Amino acid sequence: MSNKVRLQAVRDVEAYVPPEVSFTDTEAPGQVFGENVFNQVVMQKRLPKSVYKSVIATIEHGAKLDPLVADAVASAMKDWALEKGATHYAHVFYPLTGLTAEKHDSFFEPVGDGTALAEFAGKTLTQGEPDASSFPNGGLRNTFEARGYTGWDVTSPAYVLENPNGNTLCIPTVFVSMTGEALDHKTPLLRSQQAMGAHAERILRLFGHTDPEHVVSYCGPEQEYFLVDRHFFLARPDLLNAGRTLFGSKPPKGQEFDDHYFGAIPERVLGFMMDTERELFKLGIPAKTRHNEVAPGQFEIAPMFEKANLAADHQQLLMTTFKSIAKKHGMECLFHEKPFQGVNGSGKHVNFSLGNSEVGSVFVPGDTPHENAQFLVFCAAVIRAVHTYAGLLRASVASATNDHRLGANEAPPAIISIFLGDQLADVFEQIAKGPATSSKGKGKMVIGVDTLPVLPTDPGDRNRTSPFAFTGNRFEFRAPGSMQTVAGPMTTINTIMADSLDYIATNLEAAVAEGTDFDQAVQTILTEIINEHGAVVFNGDGYADAWPIEAEKRGLANLKTTLDALPELITEPAMELFEKYHVFNHREMHSRYEIGLEQYALTIGVEARLTLELGTTAVLPAAIRHQTELAVNVGALKAAGVEADTTLLEAVSAPLADLRAGLVTLKSALEAEGHDDALAEAEHAREALLPAMASVRQASDTLEDLVADDLWPLPTYQEMLFIL
Ligand code: ADP
Ligand code: MG
Repeated sequence: MSNKVRLQAVRDVEAYVPPEVSFTDTEAPGQVFGENVFNQVVMQKRLPKSVYKSVIATIEHGAKLDPLVADAVASAMKDWALEKGATHYAHVFYPLTGLTAEKHDSFFEPVGDGTALAEFAGKTLTQGEPDASSFPNGGLRNTFEARGYTGWDVTSPAYVLENPNGNTLCIPTVFVSMTGEALDHKTPLLRSQQAMGAHAERILRLFGHTDPEHVVSYCGPEQEYFLVDRHFFLARPDLLNAGRTLFGSKPPKGQEFDDHYFGAIPERVLGFMMDTERELFKLGIPAKTRHNEVAPGQFEIAPMFEKANLAADHQQLLMTTFKSIAKKHGMECLFHEKPFQGVNGSGKHVNFSLGNSEVGSVFVPGDTPHENAQFLVFCAAVIRAVHTYAGLLRASVASATNDHRLGANEAPPAIISIFLGDQLADVFEQIAKGPATSSKGKGKMVIGVDTLPVLPTDPGDRNRTSPFAFTGNRFEFRAPGSMQTVAGPMTTINTIMADSLDYIATNLEAAVAEGTDFDQAVQTILTEIINEHGAVVFNGDGYADAWPIEAEKRGLANLKTTLDALPELITEPAMELFEKYHVFNHREMHSRYEIGLEQYALTIGVEARLTLELGTTAVLPAAIRHQTELAVNVGALKAAGVEADTTLLEAVSAPLADLRAGLVTLKSALEAEGHDDALAEAEHAREALLPAMASVRQASDTLEDLVADDLWPLPTYQEMLFIL
């Protein structure tokens, strides 16, 4: 690394000509949508009727998969994939690293006479055995049985992934140990979905839907990301290896100008967006909005919501697609939660609702008091769930990288609260006092003991500071980080909702059995819930200094870092909850806790080593050269009998001394790594490595503003953020 690399990067960016993107008629988004997906239309065409019906029963109604259909599906799937140019197939799974893993195999097997035959049996479709012993398992796999197994997830369609070197048939799968314990993100999501659905259906039955359609959770993730030119990216070993800049002084022109937000999208970025959208459309991913985000170089994409399991798979696929297409356009796509210090970070808002094709979203207020009672019951379930299990929600988004974002004044605070909007908050306030009688604003509702309000469909105000907000027809969980899979938070949401819905259904069913008036019973439980759990409702400014103090008075936890949040996973009530709804057993919970700690320590460990290396080999030499030049200058002046001004020399010498000291401290902190216990190692990362890294960075950032530009080795924030 030298300043030459940096200056060359700037010149290369200037000279770069991005590829042109244009669509022919046959490639128009409407034409290509779902083109590479083995979806229901394709299945209906290609599968025997009985097989098709059986598969649909599993996908749509959650019926158990009939093992006899596997061979027929495999054969049709193989023919379809071969027509699409696939040469290989892969079981795709989602290990606990948060990334996507694939095990590729060839369709073709040699048959002895020198030719090869395309083979793909039902057994191959339904089960795989990847050599995946290096994925984190938190003690769930003993060394003698280190294998993990993949299993076909029928509810997420297979697809063909195009690649210049040959296409691959991708089959979404779960990844479990030999004993059936979850080693991935998909398995618990599917389990939690089942639990939530069953209890939501009990509520619907109480409200007169005698045979409700299968209830699922829907998820619409909003993905924020940065784009930087690849020349700069490659000249920044910290971005390359840690996904974020470990050094970098804030540019003179930052986001305070706000001219980027919803401003014009650079031509080159538009080309990238068109290209990604076409690829996403082919894969059946309904990409929708696009606009610039708050920070320079930052953008957002929000696909249309889908069933949570599918949305989670699509979200992972979206990230991989973005990465590879950005490369094609000479850019790097950054999904890190905080690639640039002092610049707005990236989140992944998880919009979610529950529902089915019959009732739509249960979070839409209806036209009749009866429908509204149902709506309020589901909202009350959310209030109770979020209040009771706030710690679990916080833990579901805990990571070393997301810690940089939560609680900084850009993302919601680490305190989990709910924003209901004025109208709905008002209704619940009245419910707390007993039967509601009026509503704020335009509503004109009259409520007696036996009837509930006619609610306005107005979504209420937007409150960007709330981690959990009602937004008209759904709730939006804003704490998840841009890099995280939505499967984690959705699993938690489903499970805590299962618990609340179970609680309410049990209560109402008992009341009905005792002959209590149903409306009365609903009124009573709503009042009870809002009185017990209303403390979690907060419509104010989550960034205000007064909020943490107020939150503490209300008994709401403020779990600032990952290490404060992770122990929530292994509390007795948490483990009981997940076991009761068959989402995780105790061993699985412990394994997730352990893996969380390991990942935390690993992430920070890598960053610390990079900080030491770059600080020593890039920043320090540049600063010393600069200091030497100044010293030589002072010496020369003195020798010539001219009065020498030493302020510049002194100004650079102080942070240079800090840098040297910081590097020494960091080095010894790194030498003290290697605790046997995962918690001790993670604590060491937080208590020793992070502060040491911060002081190295501070000294370096001060130096960056002092050292001659032609000596500075690393591309600057100004260059990375404003040149696209
Ligand atoms: P905003 O920025 O105002 O929050 P966006 O349009 O950027 O809105 O994103 C909204 C996201 O919410 C989209 O992904 C959308 O599909 C999703 N969404 C809308 N309705 C629902 C719903 N009923 N359930 C789940 N997600 C939804
Ligand atoms: Mg949003």
